Amino acid sequence: AVTGDMLDLKRWLPAADSRRDMPVIELKNGRKSFGMVDVLKDINLCIDTGQVVSVIGPSGSGKSTLIRSLNGLEPLDHGEVLLQGARFLQGRRDTHRSQERTSRKRILDIGMVFQSFNLFPHKSVLGNVMLAPRYHGLGSDAEIRQLALAMLRKVGMAAHANKYPHQLSGGQQQRVAIARALAMRPSIILFDEPTSALDPETVGEVLRVIRQLAAEGTTMVIVTHEMQFALDVSSRILFMENGRVEFDGPPDALRQTSTRDRRVRDFMFGV
Ligand code: ADP
Ligand code: MG
Repeated sequence: AVTGDMLDLKRWLPAADSRRDMPVIELKNGRKSFGMVDVLKDINLCIDTGQVVSVIGPSGSGKSTLIRSLNGLEPLDHGEVLLQGARFLQGRRDTHRSQERTSRKRILDIGMVFQSFNLFPHKSVLGNVMLAPRYHGLGSDAEIRQLALAMLRKVGMAAHANKYPHQLSGGQQQRVAIARALAMRPSIILFDEPTSALDPETVGEVLRVIRQLAAEGTTMVIVTHEMQFALDVSSRILFMENGRVEFDGPPDALRQTSTRDRRVRDFMFGV
Protein backbone atom coordinates (compact mmCIF):
# COMPACT_ATOMS: atom_id res chain seq x y z
CA ALA A 1 0.00 0.00 0.00
CA VAL A 2 0.98 3.62 -0.35
CA THR A 3 3.07 4.84 2.53
CA GLY A 4 2.10 8.00 4.40
CA ASP A 5 -1.16 8.10 6.33
CA MET A 6 -1.40 11.83 5.85
CA LEU A 7 -2.05 11.36 2.17
CA ASP A 8 -5.72 11.73 1.34
CA LEU A 9 -5.73 9.07 -1.32
CA LYS A 10 -9.42 9.36 -2.07
CA ARG A 11 -8.68 12.63 -3.75
CA TRP A 12 -6.44 10.86 -6.19
CA LEU A 13 -8.63 7.98 -7.12
CA PRO A 14 -10.26 8.45 -10.50
CA ALA A 15 -14.01 8.94 -10.43
CA ALA A 16 -14.39 5.92 -12.69
CA ASP A 17 -13.06 3.75 -9.88
CA SER A 18 -16.52 3.68 -8.35
CA ARG A 19 -17.65 1.32 -11.13
CA ARG A 20 -16.02 -1.80 -9.74
CA ASP A 21 -18.77 -3.95 -11.21
CA MET A 22 -17.67 -3.08 -14.76
CA PRO A 23 -14.59 -4.34 -16.57
CA VAL A 24 -11.83 -1.74 -16.28
CA ILE A 25 -11.29 -1.77 -20.02
CA GLU A 26 -12.88 -3.56 -22.90
CA LEU A 27 -11.96 -3.77 -26.57
CA LYS A 28 -14.73 -4.83 -28.90
CA ASN A 29 -14.09 -6.03 -32.44
CA GLY A 30 -10.85 -4.07 -32.69
CA ARG A 31 -9.45 -3.94 -36.21
CA LYS A 32 -6.55 -2.03 -37.64
CA SER A 33 -4.44 -2.12 -40.78
CA PHE A 34 -1.21 -0.44 -41.74
CA GLY A 35 -1.50 -0.18 -45.51
CA MET A 36 -2.16 -3.69 -46.79
CA VAL A 37 -1.24 -5.38 -43.53
CA ASP A 38 -4.03 -6.31 -41.13
CA VAL A 39 -2.32 -5.83 -37.79
CA LEU A 40 -5.34 -6.34 -35.52
CA LYS A 41 -7.97 -8.74 -36.83
CA ASP A 42 -11.19 -8.47 -34.90
CA ILE A 43 -9.82 -8.51 -31.37
CA ASN A 44 -12.02 -8.78 -28.31
CA LEU A 45 -10.56 -8.23 -24.90
CA CYS A 46 -12.06 -7.61 -21.51
CA ILE A 47 -9.98 -6.81 -18.44
CA ASP A 48 -11.43 -6.85 -14.94
CA THR A 49 -10.26 -4.97 -11.86
CA GLY A 50 -7.11 -6.50 -10.40
CA GLN A 51 -6.28 -8.65 -13.39
CA VAL A 52 -2.72 -8.88 -14.63
CA VAL A 53 -2.70 -9.77 -18.30
CA SER A 54 0.57 -10.62 -20.04
CA VAL A 55 0.69 -10.33 -23.81
CA ILE A 56 3.25 -12.54 -25.52
CA GLY A 57 3.92 -13.51 -29.11
CA PRO A 58 6.43 -13.18 -31.92
CA SER A 59 7.79 -9.83 -33.06
CA GLY A 60 5.39 -8.11 -35.46
CA SER A 61 2.34 -10.03 -34.21
CA GLY A 62 0.57 -6.81 -33.14
CA LYS A 63 1.25 -6.69 -29.37
CA SER A 64 2.31 -3.03 -29.26
CA THR A 65 -0.45 -1.97 -31.63
CA LEU A 66 -2.97 -3.77 -29.42
CA ILE A 67 -2.02 -2.05 -26.19
CA ARG A 68 -1.50 1.32 -27.86
CA SER A 69 -4.98 1.05 -29.32
CA LEU A 70 -6.40 0.75 -25.79
CA ASN A 71 -5.41 4.32 -24.96
CA GLY A 72 -5.70 5.84 -28.43
CA LEU A 73 -1.97 6.10 -29.18
CA GLU A 74 -2.84 4.03 -32.26
CA PRO A 75 -6.32 4.83 -33.54
CA LEU A 76 -8.43 1.78 -34.39
CA ASP A 77 -9.98 1.51 -37.84
CA HIS A 78 -12.99 -0.37 -36.49
CA GLY A 79 -14.30 -1.34 -33.10
CA GLU A 80 -14.51 0.42 -29.79
CA VAL A 81 -12.82 0.74 -26.43
CA LEU A 82 -14.89 1.06 -23.28
CA LEU A 83 -13.55 2.29 -19.96
CA GLN A 84 -15.59 1.15 -16.97
CA GLY A 85 -18.45 0.40 -19.31
CA ALA A 86 -18.55 3.78 -21.03
CA ARG A 87 -17.44 4.29 -24.61
CA PHE A 88 -14.01 5.84 -24.63
CA LEU A 89 -12.69 5.37 -28.17
CA GLN A 90 -14.25 4.43 -31.46
CA GLY A 91 -12.76 3.18 -34.71
CA ARG A 92 -12.12 6.07 -37.06
CA ARG A 93 -13.82 4.30 -39.96
CA ASP A 94 -16.93 3.66 -37.88
CA THR A 95 -17.62 7.35 -37.46
CA HIS A 96 -17.56 10.34 -39.78
CA ARG A 97 -15.49 12.23 -37.26
CA SER A 98 -11.91 11.46 -36.47
CA GLN A 99 -11.57 9.26 -33.43
CA GLU A 100 -14.15 10.21 -30.87
CA ARG A 101 -13.29 10.65 -27.22
CA THR A 102 -16.12 10.73 -24.75
CA SER A 103 -14.01 12.63 -22.28
CA ARG A 104 -10.51 13.92 -22.60
CA LYS A 105 -10.02 13.43 -18.87
CA ARG A 106 -10.60 9.69 -19.10
CA ILE A 107 -7.28 9.17 -20.85
CA LEU A 108 -5.72 10.01 -17.49
CA ASP A 109 -7.23 6.77 -16.18
CA ILE A 110 -4.74 4.80 -18.26
CA GLY A 111 -1.07 4.75 -17.31
CA MET A 112 1.60 3.77 -19.81
CA VAL A 113 5.16 2.57 -19.35
CA PHE A 114 7.34 2.33 -22.46
CA GLN A 115 10.36 0.24 -23.33
CA SER A 116 12.49 3.39 -23.55
CA PHE A 117 11.41 5.05 -20.23
CA ASN A 118 10.87 8.47 -21.89
CA LEU A 119 11.79 10.48 -18.80
CA PHE A 120 12.29 14.22 -19.27
CA PRO A 121 16.09 14.63 -19.18
CA HIS A 122 16.09 18.20 -17.88
CA LYS A 123 13.84 17.38 -14.92
CA SER A 124 14.85 15.71 -11.68
CA VAL A 125 13.39 12.34 -10.68
CA LEU A 126 10.91 14.11 -8.40
CA GLY A 127 10.15 16.67 -11.11
CA ASN A 128 9.35 13.89 -13.57
CA VAL A 129 6.90 12.25 -11.17
CA MET A 130 5.26 15.55 -10.17
CA LEU A 131 4.88 16.85 -13.72
CA ALA A 132 1.59 15.29 -14.84
CA PRO A 133 -0.31 15.67 -11.52
CA ARG A 134 0.85 19.32 -11.48
CA TYR A 135 -0.15 19.91 -15.09
CA HIS A 136 -3.60 18.49 -14.44
CA GLY A 137 -3.99 20.42 -11.20
CA LEU A 138 -4.55 17.37 -9.03
CA GLY A 139 -3.62 19.09 -5.80
CA SER A 140 -1.47 21.69 -4.11
CA ASP A 141 2.25 21.59 -4.76
CA ALA A 142 2.83 20.18 -1.26
CA GLU A 143 0.27 17.43 -1.78
CA ILE A 144 1.66 16.50 -5.16
CA ARG A 145 5.18 16.41 -3.77
CA GLN A 146 4.03 14.11 -0.99
CA LEU A 147 2.23 11.84 -3.46
CA ALA A 148 5.24 11.75 -5.77
CA LEU A 149 7.56 10.82 -2.90
CA ALA A 150 5.15 8.07 -1.82
CA MET A 151 5.21 6.63 -5.34
CA LEU A 152 9.00 6.88 -5.46
CA ARG A 153 9.19 5.00 -2.14
CA LYS A 154 6.94 2.35 -3.64
CA VAL A 155 9.44 1.69 -6.45
CA GLY A 156 12.48 2.09 -4.16
CA MET A 157 13.66 5.34 -5.73
CA ALA A 158 12.90 7.96 -3.04
CA ALA A 159 16.61 8.24 -2.15
CA HIS A 160 17.28 9.38 -5.75
CA ALA A 161 14.51 12.01 -5.87
CA ASN A 162 16.87 14.90 -6.63
CA LYS A 163 18.98 13.14 -9.24
CA TYR A 164 18.57 13.54 -12.98
CA PRO A 165 17.76 10.67 -15.37
CA HIS A 166 21.30 10.52 -16.84
CA GLN A 167 22.67 9.77 -13.35
CA LEU A 168 20.55 6.60 -13.12
CA SER A 169 20.83 3.09 -14.51
CA GLY A 170 18.22 1.92 -17.00
CA GLY A 171 16.47 -0.12 -14.33
CA GLN A 172 16.33 2.89 -12.02
CA GLN A 173 14.97 5.10 -14.81
CA GLN A 174 12.30 2.54 -15.58
CA ARG A 175 11.29 2.40 -11.89
CA VAL A 176 10.92 6.19 -11.96
CA ALA A 177 8.79 5.87 -15.11
CA ILE A 178 6.56 3.43 -13.20
CA ALA A 179 6.30 5.87 -10.27
CA ARG A 180 5.37 8.59 -12.76
CA ALA A 181 2.55 6.45 -14.15
CA LEU A 182 1.36 5.58 -10.62
CA ALA A 183 1.28 9.25 -9.59
CA MET A 184 -1.75 9.81 -11.80
CA ARG A 185 -3.59 7.06 -9.88
CA PRO A 186 -4.70 5.32 -13.10
CA SER A 187 -7.27 2.51 -13.14
CA ILE A 188 -4.98 0.44 -15.34
CA ILE A 189 -1.33 0.55 -16.38
CA LEU A 190 -0.12 -0.65 -19.78
CA PHE A 191 3.49 -1.79 -20.09
CA ASP A 192 5.10 -2.27 -23.51
CA GLU A 193 8.18 -4.47 -23.01
CA PRO A 194 9.30 -2.62 -19.87
CA THR A 195 12.54 -4.59 -19.53
CA SER A 196 13.56 -5.09 -23.17
CA ALA A 197 15.88 -2.06 -23.26
CA LEU A 198 17.59 -2.84 -19.94
CA ASP A 199 20.98 -4.29 -19.14
CA PRO A 200 20.43 -7.85 -17.91
CA GLU A 201 21.55 -6.97 -14.37
CA THR A 202 18.78 -4.37 -13.91
CA VAL A 203 15.88 -6.40 -15.36
CA GLY A 204 15.22 -8.07 -12.01
CA GLU A 205 14.66 -4.86 -10.03
CA VAL A 206 12.01 -3.68 -12.51
CA LEU A 207 10.26 -7.06 -12.57
CA ARG A 208 10.23 -7.01 -8.75
CA VAL A 209 8.41 -3.68 -8.74
CA ILE A 210 5.81 -4.94 -11.24
CA ARG A 211 5.41 -8.13 -9.20
CA GLN A 212 4.74 -6.01 -6.10
CA LEU A 213 2.13 -3.95 -7.95
CA ALA A 214 0.48 -7.18 -9.08
CA ALA A 215 0.39 -8.44 -5.50
CA GLU A 216 -1.32 -5.20 -4.47
CA GLY A 217 -4.06 -5.76 -7.03
CA THR A 218 -3.01 -3.19 -9.62
CA THR A 219 -4.76 -3.81 -12.94
CA MET A 220 -2.09 -4.18 -15.61
CA VAL A 221 -1.48 -5.28 -19.18
CA ILE A 222 2.15 -6.21 -19.80
CA VAL A 223 3.71 -6.97 -23.16
CA THR A 224 6.75 -9.02 -22.27
CA HIS A 225 9.25 -11.60 -23.41
CA GLU A 226 9.96 -12.62 -19.80
CA MET A 227 8.15 -15.93 -19.89
CA GLN A 228 8.79 -17.11 -16.34
CA PHE A 229 7.70 -13.73 -15.02
CA ALA A 230 4.53 -13.87 -17.15
CA LEU A 231 3.72 -17.35 -15.83
CA ASP A 232 4.30 -16.23 -12.22
CA VAL A 233 2.42 -12.92 -12.06
CA SER A 234 -0.36 -13.16 -14.62
CA SER A 235 -3.99 -13.92 -14.08
CA ARG A 236 -4.16 -14.39 -17.83
CA ILE A 237 -1.75 -14.86 -20.67
CA LEU A 238 -2.62 -13.70 -24.16
CA PHE A 239 -0.71 -15.17 -27.06
CA MET A 240 -0.80 -13.10 -30.24
CA GLU A 241 0.12 -14.24 -33.70
CA ASN A 242 -0.55 -12.50 -37.02
CA GLY A 243 -2.90 -9.93 -35.53
CA ARG A 244 -5.05 -12.46 -33.69
CA VAL A 245 -5.30 -13.51 -30.08
CA GLU A 246 -4.59 -17.23 -30.47
CA PHE A 247 -4.70 -18.04 -26.76
CA ASP A 248 -6.27 -16.25 -23.80
CA GLY A 249 -6.24 -18.15 -20.56
CA PRO A 250 -4.68 -18.64 -17.13
CA PRO A 251 -1.01 -19.68 -16.88
CA ASP A 252 -2.10 -23.02 -15.42
CA ALA A 253 -3.71 -23.92 -18.72
CA LEU A 254 -0.27 -23.65 -20.33
CA ARG A 255 1.51 -25.81 -17.76
CA GLN A 256 -0.69 -28.73 -18.75
CA THR A 257 -0.01 -30.36 -22.07
CA SER A 258 -2.75 -30.11 -24.60
CA THR A 259 -2.81 -30.18 -28.34
CA ARG A 260 -4.84 -27.01 -28.64
CA ASP A 261 -2.30 -24.90 -26.81
CA ARG A 262 0.66 -26.50 -28.53
CA ARG A 263 1.66 -23.38 -30.46
CA VAL A 264 1.73 -21.12 -27.44
CA ARG A 265 3.48 -23.76 -25.32
CA ASP A 266 6.14 -24.08 -28.01
CA PHE A 267 6.57 -20.31 -28.01
CA MET A 268 6.79 -20.05 -24.22
CA PHE A 269 8.88 -23.05 -23.37
CA GLY A 270 10.73 -23.54 -26.65
CA VAL A 271 9.95 -27.27 -26.76
P1 ADP B 1 4.81 -6.34 -31.95
O1 ADP B 1 4.70 -5.31 -30.89
O2 ADP B 1 4.09 -7.61 -31.63
O3 ADP B 1 6.23 -6.61 -32.35
P2 ADP B 1 3.62 -4.31 -33.62
O4 ADP B 1 2.28 -4.05 -33.07
O5 ADP B 1 4.69 -3.33 -33.31
O6 ADP B 1 4.07 -5.79 -33.26
O7 ADP B 1 3.54 -4.39 -35.20
C1 ADP B 1 2.63 -5.23 -35.88
C2 ADP B 1 2.77 -5.04 -37.37
O8 ADP B 1 2.41 -3.72 -37.73
C3 ADP B 1 4.18 -5.24 -37.89
O9 ADP B 1 4.10 -5.87 -39.15
C4 ADP B 1 4.71 -3.83 -38.03
O10 ADP B 1 5.68 -3.78 -39.03
C5 ADP B 1 3.47 -3.07 -38.40
N1 ADP B 1 3.50 -1.68 -37.91
C6 ADP B 1 3.55 -1.30 -36.62
N2 ADP B 1 3.52 0.03 -36.51
C7 ADP B 1 3.46 0.52 -37.77
C8 ADP B 1 3.39 1.83 -38.35
N3 ADP B 1 3.38 2.93 -37.57
N4 ADP B 1 3.34 1.93 -39.68
C9 ADP B 1 3.33 0.84 -40.47
N5 ADP B 1 3.38 -0.42 -40.01
C10 ADP B 1 3.45 -0.59 -38.69
MG1 MG C 1 6.14 -4.30 -29.78
